[in-house]
Amino acid sequence: QTLGAFFDAMATRQPDHEALVSVHQAQRLSYRQLQIRVDQLASALLRSGLQRGERIGIWSHNNTEWVLMQLATAKVGLVLVNINPAYRVAELEYALTKVGCVALVTMAQFRTSDYLAMLREVAPRLPLLRWAAWIDVAGQGDDQPGLLRFSELIARGDAADPQVAAVAATLDAHDPINIQFTSGTTGFPKGATLTHHNILNNGHFIGEAMKLTPADRLCIPVPLYHCFGMVLGNLACLTHGATIVYPNDGFDALSVLQTVQAERCTGLHGVPTMFIAELDHPRFAEFDLSSLRTGIMAGSPCPIEVMKRVVSQMHMAEVTIAYGMTETSPVSCQSSTDTPLAQRVASVGTVQPHLQIRIVDPETGAVVPVGERGEFCTRGYSVMHGYWDDPARTAEAIDAEGWMHTGDLATMDADGYVNIVGRIKDMVIRGGENVYPREIEEFLYRHPKVQDVQVVGVPDARYGEELCAWVVVKPGVQTGPEPLTADELRAFCQGQIAHYKVPRHIRFVEGFPMTVTGKIQKYRIREAMKAELG
Ligand code: ATP
Ligand code: MG
Repeated sequence: QTLGAFFDAMATRQPDHEALVSVHQAQRLSYRQLQIRVDQLASALLRSGLQRGERIGIWSHNNTEWVLMQLATAKVGLVLVNINPAYRVAELEYALTKVGCVALVTMAQFRTSDYLAMLREVAPRLPLLRWAAWIDVAGQGDDQPGLLRFSELIARGDAADPQVAAVAATLDAHDPINIQFTSGTTGFPKGATLTHHNILNNGHFIGEAMKLTPADRLCIPVPLYHCFGMVLGNLACLTHGATIVYPNDGFDALSVLQTVQAERCTGLHGVPTMFIAELDHPRFAEFDLSSLRTGIMAGSPCPIEVMKRVVSQMHMAEVTIAYGMTETSPVSCQSSTDTPLAQRVASVGTVQPHLQIRIVDPETGAVVPVGERGEFCTRGYSVMHGYWDDPARTAEAIDAEGWMHTGDLATMDADGYVNIVGRIKDMVIRGGENVYPREIEEFLYRHPKVQDVQVVGVPDARYGEELCAWVVVKPGVQTGPEPLTADELRAFCQGQIAHYKVPRHIRFVEGFPMTVTGKIQKYRIREAMKAELG
């Protein structure tokens, strides 16, 4: 099925059930109310001259308009292009040009950023862009010459427009629905083209593993512009008739805690850094989070200690871990709520239904024995259509037999539980020994003064590479009587991990370079260290 058809069936089944709560916009929509707006917007998009297969961008934080765009574009066969709200002029120009966007929806401003000023700056260099609309809050804000208000755009449409149904009837589940850019954790973001079939199925199976039902209310602080919010959040909810809850537009730990309590959320998603920020928030203890049951931690390595705290302190006894990448819709592996906790915190679970996975030697391509490290590869419904307009890169990633090569190093045990041990690009070779930064990070997390830590390899004249740890210390420790020192950390390692794994360089930092999804960009840590060490 297409996403539009699937959503309509759900809205028909439970019209009065709450579909969406946007806390920061003070909006609530039932499935029926959402459906009416989706149909009206779909009609408006057609009447604004857009045609099936054309690309339209959305450059915005999480809000109601985002979901409307997701569903309305799917309904009339437009390809929605998710654009990172952290992008600035050059990146916006790159993304819109790369995929040939003919229209764009954006917000007027966010915190100190003026999106319309940035858009005006690039517009002359975007000959394909036919129109742009800005999300006005209930008709407020000054008119913007040459730019449409979102409220004017949607007002052009008619929820009963027969054209919408006529176009919807021509669509195929294998049509592209979405171009999503990868996070840019290892370099420049790549645009993955995904179909209805890809992401609707993935959303469905994610919700199954979480045992979502219409009674669930999922708090989604992760960004929609990324697959985490859009598929693991929106689509997992919509395929199970659950309620989507957006606490805020940009991430903010306090509003997440407030929203979970006020909305009695049963689920909460986040990357590990978000959960850490919530757990360590000075006001954490004030909130009643007892409504929580489930949620997903994903996106980057999920430290065991953080998982345990989420279970014991946030009541998320059924929290699951998911592993995946934008190019695979995204989830390949997920623990189910039935997985015993010890196994759930120590792995990324098992392969999702209807997918294949295998772990291969990155050099020879041969499948490695059980328990050994190799590159994680996957095949099945989830694998993207390809990188947009980039057959060469697509062919590098997806081999002739349809296997997607992820660039991630993993192990699989005899029961099929997968462990992600790092990225091939992050592996450090120190004096001929392969070192996996993840292992050292897990070890350093156990130090009681350490809040967060990242380990990278930096060039070294003698050993080729040396290990370097960037450490964020728990609040108050560095100004207290016993601040953490590099010597104390090294002493903590002595006798516990092999000598060549003890970080040679240790830096205390306030935070890490991150993508807007909260993913740590190790390549920027390496660059900073290279610059410092010369
Ligand atoms: P880019 O490809 O642009 O460098 P990216 O790979 O971070 O960025 P995404 O597609 O958002 O972009 O992220 C997918 C990657 O995130 C995976 O390849 C993997 O390295 C990492 N990842 C996702 N989930 C997990 C997890 N549960 N544990 C460990 N790593 C994970
Ligand atoms: Mg990637």
